[in-house]
Amino acid sequence: MKFRALFGLFTTIILLTACGTPPATGSTAKPAPPTATPTVTATPSFRAVSPVSPLPTATPTPIPPTATPTPAPTLRPLAGNFSNQIARLERAAPTAKSNLFVPPTDAEMADFAALWQAMAQGSAAQTQALAAQHGYELLRYTDNGDAGAVSVLLREKKPVRRGWGIFARRIAPQNTLIIEAPHPLFDTGTPEIALGIFRVLDASALLVAGAHRYANADGSADAAHSAQTVFQAIHAAAAGGDSVVLQIHGFSAANHPGYPQVVLGGNSRAESVALAASLAESLQNTGLTVGVCGSGQWKKLCGTRNLQGETAGGVFIHVELDESVRADDAALIAGMVAFWQK
Ligand SMILES: [Zn+2]
Repeated sequence: MKFRALFGLFTTIILLTACGTPPATGSTAKPAPPTATPTVTATPSFRAVSPVSPLPTATPTPIPPTATPTPAPTLRPLAGNFSNQIARLERAAPTAKSNLFVPPTDAEMADFAALWQAMAQGSAAQTQALAAQHGYELLRYTDNGDAGAVSVLLREKKPVRRGWGIFARRIAPQNTLIIEAPHPLFDTGTPEIALGIFRVLDASALLVAGAHRYANADGSADAAHSAQTVFQAIHAAAAGGDSVVLQIHGFSAANHPGYPQVVLGGNSRAESVALAASLAESLQNTGLTVGVCGSGQWKKLCGTRNLQGETAGGVFIHVELDESVRADDAALIAGMVAFWQK
């Protein structure tokens, strides 16, 4: 399913209202000022170069037209149901109180930001070595659970030693949606729900953190609040400009009496607040009870100190789901689809 005009209009509005100056395009870019008359008219001097051997005069052996060209580097293909990748991650992720999450260094975070950029090329075999240095691998993944949709996948090799997460970047995306699940294991079911949204909205990226938020006693494994995670490094590389981040969390209804099934928050950008309010209407139309942050209500679930929200650059929506929605996300998915396609 593809985005329709509203999303294009919405992102245009964001660009126009958020950036102050619209992005330069071929038709609107200010013409370059006329070139000043050069003041130096002398023939430019060139650096002296070493003499080179004369070219051989012999006729080179022609390359036969049937010769096989050197193949472009490609990623190892893998096909399957992406749900299995989520299950693989959650089986191996550092669990609560394990102290097995390894916070990345600044240099490691920079490497993963670079890997994320390289994944946009869709053929990043040359960066496999960089991924391998960190125990990761890049794959060209065909999701049989999504009509054969293809993404570049960055995942930790087995055995998992760091718990840094799994990251998918759709090849030739048609929108700027980023779906995030920072709390695997703890926010039960949210990585799978994030995957479902990634699929139905043809989102451009899926980011799933790789450790229980309470894996480490010092809180360093909490991807939504710790600055030193690969999840945050890739989020920072991915989210900006006209991107829209949907970050999926889960809460316990029993611990939040009187709360609706879904609570939508966001960062402080006006575009985020407006989108959350519109999305809430769509979700209510599918039968869900929905609360929107910003009116002083639902404060416990508004993610006001969420690191990705603070550093999103673009629109950021914090989505909290109670157990009933996580047990059956059909209404949520239907509302999402209706919203993005209307
Ligand atoms: Zn959470």
